[in-house]
Amino acid sequence: MRNKISVIYGPVRSRRLGYSLGIDIIPLKTCSFDCIFCELVRKTDLLTLKREPHIPKDIVLSEIKRVLDNMSTSLDSITFSGSGEPTLNSELEEIIKGIKTISSIPITVFTNSSLLFQPEVRRALSYADRVKFTLSALTPELFYRINRPVNGLTLEMVLSGINDFCNEYKGELWMEIMIIEEINNSLTEMSKIKKFIEKFPIAQIHLNRPVRASTEPGLKIINEDELRDLAEVFHPFKVSIV
Ligand code: SF4
Repeated sequence: MRNKISVIYGPVRSRRLGYSLGIDIIPLKTCSFDCIFCELVRKTDLLTLKREPHIPKDIVLSEIKRVLDNMSTSLDSITFSGSGEPTLNSELEEIIKGIKTISSIPITVFTNSSLLFQPEVRRALSYADRVKFTLSALTPELFYRINRPVNGLTLEMVLSGINDFCNEYKGELWMEIMIIEEINNSLTEMSKIKKFIEKFPIAQIHLNRPVRASTEPGLKIINEDELRDLAEVFHPFKVSIV
């Protein structure tokens, strides 16, 4: 449910986050990726790595304050997600810090990991209580096929950013892997990902699959039994199927 003000939606009940208020600080389909599984359905409008204020911090913070002041139920998370990649907002750090001055509700950020190679992005995220990053392929061909990144963004840059971030971050680290039938649903690909992440302090791994309409029509949906088999690869991490 969208709130009256478009930067805020919900709150929604989430199995993992509890009662979560969504914050959307990016215009619709502004992203560094154009994923084949994107549930925003249409192709990315602005495919970019350039960070900009997009929705300025003063507007975001005053809307959050207004909503929190009028909310009678207690929230479990203020969650940055929504229309595109939240780290593309260059004022993310100030927004997170600003929320901390008006609320003690834990802050969660979902990121596609593409900008983690930038120190200022890692620093902005360091103020969040929880970050869920996504990585769905370790093989370059699969990465380009699934995520269709902006020109100039390579898998090496993404992996280097994830590596630095996971080694520096002090909050709660979650990870998501989007698994698509006949594309990255192999034990080999999952084993490569496991090998890459095995030293990182990841509290939860979520295996997801594109069950809704997406940018690329006709994607095949992996069945739950197969997902459960792939989940075994990630032992002893805590893995759940979304
Ligand atoms: S990273 Fe998220 S918003 Fe961006 S294209 Fe992929 S699924 Fe869509």
